[in-house]
Parts: sequence; C-alpha cells; structure tokens
Amino acid sequence: MPTALYPGSFDPITMGHIDIIRRASQIFDDLVIGVIHNPNKKSLFSLEKRKEMVREFLKDDKINAKVVSFEGLLVNFVKENKIKVIIRGLRATTDFEYELTLSLMNKELYPEQETIFLMASSQYSFVSSNLMKEVFNYNGDISKYVPPKVLEEMKKLKQ
Ligand code: ADP
Repeated sequence: MPTALYPGSFDPITMGHIDIIRRASQIFDDLVIGVIHNPNKKSLFSLEKRKEMVREFLKDDKINAKVVSFEGLLVNFVKENKIKVIIRGLRATTDFEYELTLSLMNKELYPEQETIFLMASSQYSFVSSNLMKEVFNYNGDISKYVPPKVLEEMKKLKQ
C-alpha cells in the first residue's frame, strides 16, 4: 500500500477536511497530512498552530497519520519523499476545474504520482475554511463545522 499525502492549507482544519481524513485513513494504511506553508498567502493561523490543531484532532480521533509541513511546489515535495498518491477533496464544480488543472500539471511534472479525489460528504459540501472564518467573524455559529479546539483558538484570536 503506497503512502498517501493529503495536502492543504488547513487554515483552520474543518469537519470537511476531517471527513476526508477519516475516509482516506480507511483506505490507506500510511497517510500523511501535509500542511502547506505559503509565505505569500496571508493565513489566520501560524503554520505551527495549524499543525497543532490537525494533530489534536488526530489524537482525539485515534487516527494514525503523520503531520508534516512543506514549502514550495507540492509535486517537488511528493517526488523528494517518493510519495505516489495525492488525496484531494472535491466539493463542487468550482473545485473540479481548479483540481483538474492542478492534477494535470502535477502529472506532467511527476508522472509516477496519481491524484485520488474523494467527493465531499453532502453535510460538509459547502464547508470551507474561508467561509467558516467569515461566518465566525460575524458571530455565526460554526460549532458543527469545526472541531472544539479550533473554535477555542478562533475565540482566542477574536479577544
Ligand atoms: P488548499 O489551499 O490546498 O485548497 P484547503 O485546506 O482549502 O487547501 O483544502 C485542502 C483540500 O481539502 C482540497 O482538496 C479541498 O478541496 C479539500 N476540502 C476542503 N474543504 C472540504 C470539504 N468540506 N469537503 C471535502 N473536501 C474539502
């Protein structure tokens, strides 16, 4: 069974991401969560905090996956670490267009890898980190869509 990498910004991790991680961990024995560090993209949480929140959930859920971070081109990281499978989640047609381009480019740069897509579960198909941040900012209840630890950290930032 090859190692699978689930990469993302996870700013912050949501129940949508968690749903994908849970399902991927049922398929792949060796799952790695890759938290992307992009110095040009403004994130709400620091890289360390984003990783910590992912780790916290894995511990609570007893999921045996590694959390790593990387900077730069995803496909370079994948190649250097001899990873053969990239996991991505698909919510809507808008995701599809972006993800298709990305996976074709990655295939071009490193043909030995494959991107495997998991469809979002219906109850989380509208959930994104950005939407959760926006709703929370205007005092909306997002407790069903992010883990308690994430909500706690978001409240701390607001104080
Ligand atoms: P990125 O900045 O790489 O898009 P994200 O953290 O936003 O990082 O997302 C990581 C991956 O998780 C992407 O493939 C995204 O489509 C997927 N994803 C995000 N939210 C959901 C969700 N609610 N259900 C299924 N997949 C999701």
